[in-house]
Amino acid sequence: SAPITVPVPLGERAYDILVGRGLIGTAGARIAALGARAAAIVTDAHVGPLYADALAASLEAQGLRISVTVLPPGEATKSYAGLERVCDAVLEARIERGDLVVALGGGVIGDLAGFAAAVVRRGVRFVQVPTTLLSQVDSSVGGKTGINSRHGKNLVGAFHQPSLVLADTALLDTLPIREMRAGYAEVVKYGLIDDPGFFAWCEAHWREVFAGGPERDRAVAQSCRAKAAVVVRDEHENGDRALLNLGHTFGHALERITAYDSARLVHGEGVAIGLCLAFRFSASLGLCPRADAERVEAHLKAAGLPTRLGDVPGGCGTVDALLDAMAQDKKVKGGALTFILARGIGQSFIAPGIEAESVRAFLRD
Ligand code: NAD
Ligand code: ZN
Repeated sequence: SAPITVPVPLGERAYDILVGRGLIGTAGARIAALGARAAAIVTDAHVGPLYADALAASLEAQGLRISVTVLPPGEATKSYAGLERVCDAVLEARIERGDLVVALGGGVIGDLAGFAAAVVRRGVRFVQVPTTLLSQVDSSVGGKTGINSRHGKNLVGAFHQPSLVLADTALLDTLPIREMRAGYAEVVKYGLIDDPGFFAWCEAHWREVFAGGPERDRAVAQSCRAKAAVVVRDEHENGDRALLNLGHTFGHALERITAYDSARLVHGEGVAIGLCLAFRFSASLGLCPRADAERVEAHLKAAGLPTRLGDVPGGCGTVDALLDAMAQDKKVKGGALTFILARGIGQSFIAPGIEAESVRAFLRD
């Protein structure tokens, strides 16, 4: 069946996100339609063996000159060394201004290959073929690219919008369940930000989303629509785009406390706990009905996600350690934190000037 098209109307940088099962088979024709003569595919050693041949064959059938670069899987690849490897591979493949870099992988590959595309020859075009749920609903959309530095995650990067996003939902069939659940936390987040109807839909259909029916395509497409809408309003994160950080102030702190050790916590798990904390914190401030906070927790728990600080393997340290980790977040100004809070499900808002003391009091209980 025809893919779902989600337009991202960013003026001369406008592009489409296509969502559907089996899209990778038609990727060649769709990518060739962008007018490139060569494509440098960048992938990792989990995804490459599964899907790179199919993608390369589909592109070669359109007469494109192809190269494939396979990097080690994992966050450590989003590094200066990883960037150097991708840039050199792209130059080696004689990718010119009109040609393409194709990121085939999760958020690590998308962020890294996108950043390489932003800087090689001062910018070549790139296509995202996201292969994790997280990358299909979040990182492949919006043009944030980059790598990590010793000073922190994602601190070196660029805004560089893709020319096309191909989200083949069949690729998620091979994704480990834990990664699937982690991405699902971001899907739920979109409902919690401003779409209570979508949250209710998730409560009713999450099993089908995991199983891979047409509901999966719908959830991915709806998430992309939600993210695209925010990105179009605020491409460079000067305002509204911060809403996408719902659950992330707590979530990032938990990732920091667990030393970004994916054996303990992956990003989406931190976000799941963070979403629950953001709602419980909102309830404790009297902003949001307790029943809404409970509903958020019940749903994430049903989907197999952690929801409480006590769910972090190995624990998450003291309240002070957690606050310290939060204070390192780039969203801190003075002694106050900027939180995304909620008046209810689908009624989130940016709350600057939350005193560390009130967070401390909440976490103590
Ligand atoms: P990831 O890219 O590390 O992928 C997770 C794991 O799944 C890896 O081991 C990978 O090899 C494997 N994998 C990927 N696709 C698979 C498939 N189809 N079948 C089997 N295994 C597969 O992680 P991620 O969660 O996709 O992305 C996390 C990254 O995204 C972080 O670096 C984060 O900073 C970034 N991110 C960026 C943005 C943005 O706006 N640019 C937004 C959110 C997250
Ligand atoms: Zn996130």
